[in-house]
Amino acid sequence: MRMLKNFLVCFFVFFLLFREETNAQKAKPKLIVGLVIDQMRWDYLHRYEKRYSKNGFKRLLRQGYSFDQTYLSYMPSLTAIGHASIFTGSVPAIHGIVGNEWYDQQTGKMKYCVEDSLVHSVGTTSNAGKMSPRNLLATTITDELLLATNFRSKVIGISLKDRAAILPAGHRPTGAFWIDDTSGDFVTSSWYMNSLPSWVQQFNNRKLPKTYMEKGWETLYPIDTYIQSTKDEVVWERPFPKDKKTSFPYDTKRFYEDNPGLIRNTPFGNTLILEFAKAALAANEMGKGNETDFLSINCASTDYVGHQFSTNSVEIEDTYLRLDRDLENFFTYLDKTIGKDNYLLFLTADHGGAHAVNYLREHKFEAGLLQSKTFIKPLNLVLEEKFGVKNLVKSIYNYQVNYNHMVIAEKKLDFPAIKRETINFLKFKEGVQYVIDNDDIENSSAPERLREMVRNGYNYRGSGSVTVIPFPGWFDGPIRGGTHGVWNPADTHIPLIFMGWNISKGNSNKKVNVTDIAPTLASMLNIQVPNGCIGEVLKFTK
Ligand SMILES: [Zn+2]
Repeated sequence: MRMLKNFLVCFFVFFLLFREETNAQKAKPKLIVGLVIDQMRWDYLHRYEKRYSKNGFKRLLRQGYSFDQTYLSYMPSLTAIGHASIFTGSVPAIHGIVGNEWYDQQTGKMKYCVEDSLVHSVGTTSNAGKMSPRNLLATTITDELLLATNFRSKVIGISLKDRAAILPAGHRPTGAFWIDDTSGDFVTSSWYMNSLPSWVQQFNNRKLPKTYMEKGWETLYPIDTYIQSTKDEVVWERPFPKDKKTSFPYDTKRFYEDNPGLIRNTPFGNTLILEFAKAALAANEMGKGNETDFLSINCASTDYVGHQFSTNSVEIEDTYLRLDRDLENFFTYLDKTIGKDNYLLFLTADHGGAHAVNYLREHKFEAGLLQSKTFIKPLNLVLEEKFGVKNLVKSIYNYQVNYNHMVIAEKKLDFPAIKRETINFLKFKEGVQYVIDNDDIENSSAPERLREMVRNGYNYRGSGSVTVIPFPGWFDGPIRGGTHGVWNPADTHIPLIFMGWNISKGNSNKKVNVTDIAPTLASMLNIQVPNGCIGEVLKFTK
């Protein structure tokens, strides 16, 4: 009897230990997939929902946890900044990525966010690979994962765009890959490796861009069934190069022959990137090792199509319907190869997008184009009269005024007075709502959220010293097509949904910030938060 009792106790202890062990093994996901849909407004999740398939966007809504009020907490709202902020949990003031390109305040030269003259292209003879994350000042969640595992995890970043592949993957990933327009092939930089891995070469040899583009672009369903189909041929959309019309069908075969990079401006760019994601997972055995791996994917065609045709177009609707199918296919692939509960996926966006100005005007909305370039000449004349120096303003870019700091220092000019004069000149210009001195934000009468967004976006090494904020519905951009960049919700309200490992269905309407994503992932993984992080861990309330 006693023996039996001892045996049972031993068995029970063993059982507990064993259970602990299996729990410990389940304590981290095998794989994290960070999916950033470029220019995806939050409302796209629902606007075209009726025709989304059961297992694409709708699966995220059905099985995932959605933070329905997620916003960018800085301005300007641009791609490079969005990616840097998602993955660092920080803002331009700290991570240093203040635009896709910016006016370097010390040298007076324009700088591209990921340009790097110290590296060379890998996989192409063009300059497409002379890129690196050198300008990113803070660590990313992917960097922290690698530090936590002493670089045993695998981290890969992919996109059609260099900046959207490079910034999410951090400083020392397994690799980052993007496309070269001269060939449509995926390439990289010597920052990461000295030759293209064989799996990338093999993928390039499949010539998928050619295959996709040869089929032409027709709508997926009869065109008159589209929400946006009241008019397809409209003046506020931009035709493809050497083309005149802005209506279906599009001869993408011819576009590809002229420029393989034009795959970007079709839904097939998203198909390509998700196929490449599968190849990256398989070739690198991601999600198969003992450590958590991380694949960041940017689907950028939504942005290119948005820029060309704007938000209320059949083209963008069709792009989302096709992306939905591609996502369904990709999620199924992840289930099969990694296992449904073994991967954690999050979907978000780097920014949203505004309606085309003439579309809004046709419907009697207040809208307009801020002509900021035309402000510079007369502004410089006013400043010259007052301070005796020509061309004190070099440019107005990313809604910020850039000054010639060298001359200002050399002539010992009163810089606060120059900025005051600038503000007085700009504040009554057409379409201008606020003009803010970035070194004296507290003294602006703008609402606190706007002041916070200016403060977060201002990094004095790269940002101009004065911010121009247009009326809602107004922006500095093209007359044809759409864009983004301002503080307003169309550009800054983004989707954020987590699905998979340890996530149960739910949603929250609490307002949260893009900077909360990275610390939430760090908390889930029990690793250090990135070193510039200012976000907070999200609460998945029932
Ligand atoms: Zn864009």
